[in-house]
Amino acid sequence: MNVLVLNVGSSSLKFQLVRTDDDRLLNNTDERLAKGMVERVGGEAIYTYQPSVGGPQRGSIPLPDHRSTLGHLLTWLTSDDSGAVLGSIGEIDAVGHRVVHGGELFKKSVLITPDVQRGIENNIDLAPLHNPANLRGIAAAREVLGAGVPQVAVFDTAFHQTLPPQAYLYAIPYQLYRRHSVRRYGFHGTSHRYVAARWRKLTERSREETNIITLHLGNGCSACAIAAGDSVDTSMGFTPLEGLVMGTRSGDLDPALLEHVAVKEGLSQREMSTLLNKHSGLLGISGLTNDMRELLQEADENDDRRARLAIEVFCYRARKYIGSYLAAMGGAQAIVFTGGIGENSARIRTGICDGLQWMGMTLDETRNHYCTDGREGIISAEGSRLDAWVIPTDEELLIARDCYRVVTGTPTPF
Ligand code: ADP
Repeated sequence: MNVLVLNVGSSSLKFQLVRTDDDRLLNNTDERLAKGMVERVGGEAIYTYQPSVGGPQRGSIPLPDHRSTLGHLLTWLTSDDSGAVLGSIGEIDAVGHRVVHGGELFKKSVLITPDVQRGIENNIDLAPLHNPANLRGIAAAREVLGAGVPQVAVFDTAFHQTLPPQAYLYAIPYQLYRRHSVRRYGFHGTSHRYVAARWRKLTERSREETNIITLHLGNGCSACAIAAGDSVDTSMGFTPLEGLVMGTRSGDLDPALLEHVAVKEGLSQREMSTLLNKHSGLLGISGLTNDMRELLQEADENDDRRARLAIEVFCYRARKYIGSYLAAMGGAQAIVFTGGIGENSARIRTGICDGLQWMGMTLDETRNHYCTDGREGIISAEGSRLDAWVIPTDEELLIARDCYRVVTGTPTPF
């Protein structure tokens, strides 16, 4: 089955075309036929298309909306420019959409029907920027490919719907949960679920034997406690702002500082939100950049004090989350690192695990340094009581596989 995986933002569209079926699923041999992205949809759009062989193809063209963007992409997929990845658009069997917020309504991936579309609409309050864009992507795909091509929604929040109330409730008046659905939802669910499933496969454990902590460390960062295969706690909350230190987001803080800073700096609610989401985290502490690679370079080459501080706060916060999840879960078998930082930086992994020796965690630095640039594997030493792993995430692949399972009625293992 050829699945077009779409991640539609308000002015962007990312895609992958994946070929998957039962055999490929079983043997991990799904094929990536093409991928790419279009930015600045709505104006002079910039596209980067990557066929499976050859370098990326870049260009710009006016694309007023998502429908015309999808049309442009499909023309490319069937043209000589892409090496005719597809003979015709009729070879697209299904479309899988990354949808940000499923609220409490969607606990797994679903076939998109008018009811499902209404459900996504009803969650717009919870994700005012993302869900409308996702809906535009769904409408565009229906218009361009026709109603006969099944579309599947894969939600960022769905994996965390197994959180128990003690993990998802905030200690604020309960009516706010009842009236306005204020609770922890968690995000990055597709990524946490993918690496958990991959860890199971690599270690040949059953779902019930899967007790791990996954750390997705990219521009956005989140931790997830997975017990008996289910997400039982996660660090992002009502929005993706809570939890770990991120590229530009603060993560956890004392809510009382909001009013204090707003008054002192003369900032509106909106400006405070921008400060915490866009100007904080690694960027806020260092005053230099949100990019971990650049921070590490600054710390090394110029011994920049604030770059070092940003890195230390980042690692310390992640370590605290590991400790609290170990307590919450009553222990775990492994910590799994993923995301751009988690997959590539042996230094940050060491920084996070440093101090966990007391509870039996020892990294093997040779293994740790080997697992970068997409190499997966165990990075803890022989005999370490708590294992550490690096597993590159692949959200698009999981979306394609979910799409295949939903369309064919194959049960989903997670
Ligand atoms: P996104 O969350 O946008 O998908 P990524 O998962 O690609 O982002 O992660 C981006 C982060 O990963 C950036 O902070 C980047 O500097 C960091 N990163 C990528 N490679 C390395 C590396 N070799 N060492 C340290 N950080 C890295």
